[in-house]
Amino acid sequence: MPEGDTIYRSARALHRVLAGHVVTAFDTGLATLARVNDDTPVKGRTIDKVESRGKWLLVYFTGDLILVTHMLMSGSWHIYRTGERWRMPRSKMRAVISTAEWQAVAFNVPIAELHTARSLERSEQVPRLGPDILSGDFTIEAGIKRIANCARETPEAEVGVTLLNQRIIAGLGNVYKSEVAFSARIHPFRAIRTLSRSEIERVVEIAYRYMKANVADGKSDGIVTYTGNRRTTHAMDREERLWVYKREGQECRRCGATVLMRKQGTQARVTFWCPECQPFIT
Ligand SMILES: [Zn+2]
Repeated sequence: MPEGDTIYRSARALHRVLAGHVVTAFDTGLATLARVNDDTPVKGRTIDKVESRGKWLLVYFTGDLILVTHMLMSGSWHIYRTGERWRMPRSKMRAVISTAEWQAVAFNVPIAELHTARSLERSEQVPRLGPDILSGDFTIEAGIKRIANCARETPEAEVGVTLLNQRIIAGLGNVYKSEVAFSARIHPFRAIRTLSRSEIERVVEIAYRYMKANVADGKSDGIVTYTGNRRTTHAMDREERLWVYKREGQECRRCGATVLMRKQGTQARVTFWCPECQPFIT
């Protein structure tokens, strides 16, 4: 099953080749798409942007039309140069977006719908997400506002659970959850209502900085939050790159206390923290 970050990468790759280009052809093997396409053709529109929402991938066309696909177990998007041979049989094709240079092909996607902004807003199944921390229009201010709202609406929600909740701020995964809370010196099991204004600011700023830095570097081999002793010249191992994630039982890099781990939230996601650097406050 493709994970959220895989779909995020697919969306980013599709955005790179499609955004700003005119659709020269749109084909589909799905009757529901074909019907909408007959009434409001995709061909001739320009692709505005491609983005992911959790496990959903959304292609925005000009003139208020959005192609929404869900990958479930089997679905995938491929990108081909126009005329290049597909690596999957045509019978598995569900939708093809062609531009002058590229073809984006959705294979085996079990769910594909064409929406307007309004019908998408009303859709029960496509989740509404908070502002995406990696999107160009994300601001620290907006992020702070979202967390502050949470502190009012779900005051008992734990910090770690709140950071992972894609409906509040989209983009943070399970590694970042622990790393951001550590760096902000906030115990991940504290209730969100216990955070001061400056702690909320700190958490959002750090989340933003970490996410930006890791994407900007174009690293494909994992997340780096801890760079340690910069005088060392040898390449760092993965486990030397993080403050607390997967370091339970080891010494805190800041204070030497023992890093702890506990499962958190209804999904029982692992959470790591230092009990000295991140005191529990009620
Ligand atoms: Zn510590």
